[in-house]
Amino acid sequence: MKIEPIQLIKNNHLKNTAARVAILEFLQKNSEPVDVLEIMNYLKKKDLKTNLTTVYRVLDSFLTVGLVKKLELHEGKYRYELSSLKHHHHLVCQNCGKIEDIENCSLETLEEKITKRSEFLIKHHSLEFYGLCKDCRK
Ligand SMILES: [Zn+2]
Ligand SMILES: [Zn+2]
Repeated sequence: MKIEPIQLIKNNHLKNTAARVAILEFLQKNSEPVDVLEIMNYLKKKDLKTNLTTVYRVLDSFLTVGLVKKLELHEGKYRYELSSLKHHHHLVCQNCGKIEDIENCSLETLEEKITKRSEFLIKHHSLEFYGLCKDCRK
């Protein structure tokens, strides 16, 4: 179920600004994690006067309340996605840069084994796959 950006902002006790609403909108529209330049382009298209500092500030406020996750996919930049997405992993094409989500995660049994063996309490994990996408393999 999709929650409206304005409601998400309210629920997290943030101040309602046009940039916050638009950035959440953009994150909801994209199934793949987005970078700051893509966010900037979207804001420009919506005729919102903004700058990088504002975008980073908005993203920081979202990170602080846990609305978004910050990803580092070895591209020399960060990407952002909504934390409310179902648990998933990413396939990163090293040729064209395309990123795909894969939803089936079979790491729970591995987590159980690790916890049994090392008594380490695992709270979460991240796993990314790097290679060539369908188009780039041709
Ligand atoms: Zn590719
Ligand atoms: Zn997983």
